Amino acid sequence: MEWPGLLPNSSPNSSPNSSPKTLPLLNKEIVACTECPRLVQWREEISVTKRKAYENEKYWGRPLPSFGSDSPKVLIVGLAPGAHGANRTGRIFTGDSSGDWLYRSLFRNGLAKIPTSTGLNDGQELFDLRITCIVKCVPPENKPSPGEIKNCARWLGDELKIFYPTVKAIVALGALAWGQIVKSLSFEPSFKNSVKFSHGSEIRWRGEDGNNRILLGSYHPSQQNTFTGRLTEAMLDQVFEKAGRFAR
Ligand code: SF4
Repeated sequence: MEWPGLLPNSSPNSSPNSSPKTLPLLNKEIVACTECPRLVQWREEISVTKRKAYENEKYWGRPLPSFGSDSPKVLIVGLAPGAHGANRTGRIFTGDSSGDWLYRSLFRNGLAKIPTSTGLNDGQELFDLRITCIVKCVPPENKPSPGEIKNCARWLGDELKIFYPTVKAIVALGALAWGQIVKSLSFEPSFKNSVKFSHGSEIRWRGEDGNNRILLGSYHPSQQNTFTGRLTEAMLDQVFEKAGRFAR
């Protein structure tokens, strides 16, 4: 498959070797990335100052690679690693409240082996599913800058190159992830960028490869949304039930 325009937001000097990579090589490059000075400083600072409850743990403190199946049918795209969750444990959405919500729902919908995700050796396994995020480093106040989102778009683009052929359903957690995925899918002629993000929003298209695909929006399972009741477990389940049903 050709990928014209897949990386419209790549930094011009950031991806000289942007030919398709193997997943291990891509993950190695992501983990070594130092392109955003503010985020490099922040991820390392958190790993030294730590949260009291985790003061005896060694924090990951690096960019987060994606996690899950190597040939996923469902792709979940979040915003960025949590300061004391993924930035601590080294696995996306792992070790914090957002992850607790996410993995419980994935388990209920047959996409995860166990309902918890606490660390790299917890036995968690995802079925037909891969999880990634648009910004691979933890940002201060969970707010990446537009420049940082743009810098990191090349990694999301590389991940899509690898996973897109098998993916049938993409779930964007939050408006920023939705916006970035919509930009990244502009290489598909039949993809119509005409729907605004909301919980339950969706765009369907037929790919150049003949496969039908769906993009689904969900509120992010951040404490801001779950503590306030803006997002309930039933709402999250509805999205993943639909994604799983469509993909399988
Ligand atoms: Fe690199 Fe992305 Fe981290 Fe920026 S946010 S340093 S582009 S991995």
